[in-house]
Amino acid sequence: MAPVADKTSAQSTGPQALTPRIFLAEEHPIRLKMIDSDALHILKKLNSSGFSGYLVGGGVRDLYLGNPPKDFDISTDARPGQIRKLFPHSAIIGKRFRLVQVFCHRGKVIEISTLRSLSEHDLDGPEAVLAPNNTFGTLADDAQRRDLTINGLFFDIRDQTIIDYVDGVRDLNDALIRIIGDPDRRIHRDPVRMMRAIRHSARNNFRIEEKSWQAICDNHQMLALCPPSRLRDELLKDLYSGSAVAWLETAIASGIFLTLFPLYKKPFASQQEGYPPAQTHLLRLAAALDRINLHARQRKTAQPPDFFLLALLLIPWAESRYGIFSQNLKGSALFQIAKKIRNDIDRDLGIQLNLRRSLRQEMIALLTNLSVLIQHRQNDSWPKWLQNKSYFAMASLLYSCYMEATFDTPSLDRQLSSLPVAPEEPQSLPPERTLHKRGKPAFSPKTKGGIFGLRK
Ligand code: ATP
Ligand code: MG
Repeated sequence: MAPVADKTSAQSTGPQALTPRIFLAEEHPIRLKMIDSDALHILKKLNSSGFSGYLVGGGVRDLYLGNPPKDFDISTDARPGQIRKLFPHSAIIGKRFRLVQVFCHRGKVIEISTLRSLSEHDLDGPEAVLAPNNTFGTLADDAQRRDLTINGLFFDIRDQTIIDYVDGVRDLNDALIRIIGDPDRRIHRDPVRMMRAIRHSARNNFRIEEKSWQAICDNHQMLALCPPSRLRDELLKDLYSGSAVAWLETAIASGIFLTLFPLYKKPFASQQEGYPPAQTHLLRLAAALDRINLHARQRKTAQPPDFFLLALLLIPWAESRYGIFSQNLKGSALFQIAKKIRNDIDRDLGIQLNLRRSLRQEMIALLTNLSVLIQHRQNDSWPKWLQNKSYFAMASLLYSCYMEATFDTPSLDRQLSSLPVAPEEPQSLPPERTLHKRGKPAFSPKTKGGIFGLRK
């Protein structure tokens, strides 16, 4: 580890005019051959055109830890217009903070941002009056505007050094999540940073540093002020991560979980006869979910859809509130409960997470189907009419999760081995997570017959 002279030629304006630590090639594990060839090409082109180009953020973090990065983000001192000219297949996006998307082969998109002094999420403060051009910054500024120290590193392909203004390498080595700057202030500016801290702690099995942890515990209610669609997207990333158990444990301990899911306040405080306590039940369900997602990643099978994940997360609540899985509810009794669940979800979750109407309906249909399946279980062989339903595959996958999480009955492995292979997708798009054909909702309120409006 060698603190080395300042590599930046640009002048820093603020208090962040720090000297970085430079980690030479022999002092870290990142090698050029680990970098995506398109990202490498872009970096070389920026450098050969007289600009500096750096690999930044999650890409550097993941390569350092030996994990495959999800994407490779690039920062440069070139302005958006200059970047755009260098890459014919590119477009400038963003209103306040413009960045350039470069379109590569097979639909892959790599984002290049100009070094800047503020995160777009800090723009609600007094700096919001600044013109976007005034937020361009130096390497030191750009490091300080990032969320976590482990996400604030730059990799320079020219000499294969890591440039570290925020002690991110130390924290990577110590398996520590630390919010950059004053955690309270950074969280007030963008409460979603709390979710990002918990995500990276859960994904990497890292501890959260004390001051950052305290700030998260003190401010978790601020999440309610964030745009609901941002919260939903962040939550779904965690549910799909394969580390949902670790995420849940930390989200519950910090208070974040109850801020996101206020309907769990009562279930957490009470105990249901014949069931594990709601928290334990949730964690066991999350363990089943992690197995599904890890299996999907390893075997390249399709991931379950969003409504499956959200319905799974609501199982202990639906049981604790309405006894929907234990009371053998039939006919109109089950229909009435489904209606109540729908009202609760609309009021206490749907708006807060901006869940679209069809997704809410699919969640409720799945929970209702689960109740039907539980009532029809006969040595694991289902009536033919039930197996022929369009919703059967999803409902029986949820049923397997339920049986394992509730009664320790192993049944998920068999289901996993029969999951369909996911279609090959362009790398730019979010994974097509569907085991359930879109455009064919399992729940159709207009359909006559079937079970409680569920398609036959
Ligand atoms: P992932 O593996 O999920 O992509 P990531 O850290 O790369 O993790 P991105 O959402 O791709 O996450 O963000 C890229 C980088 O942008 C981060 O590494 C971090 O440096 C910065 N960043 C993202 N969100 C924020 C935020 N809310 N505030 C400050 N910096 C952020
Ligand atoms: Mg990323």
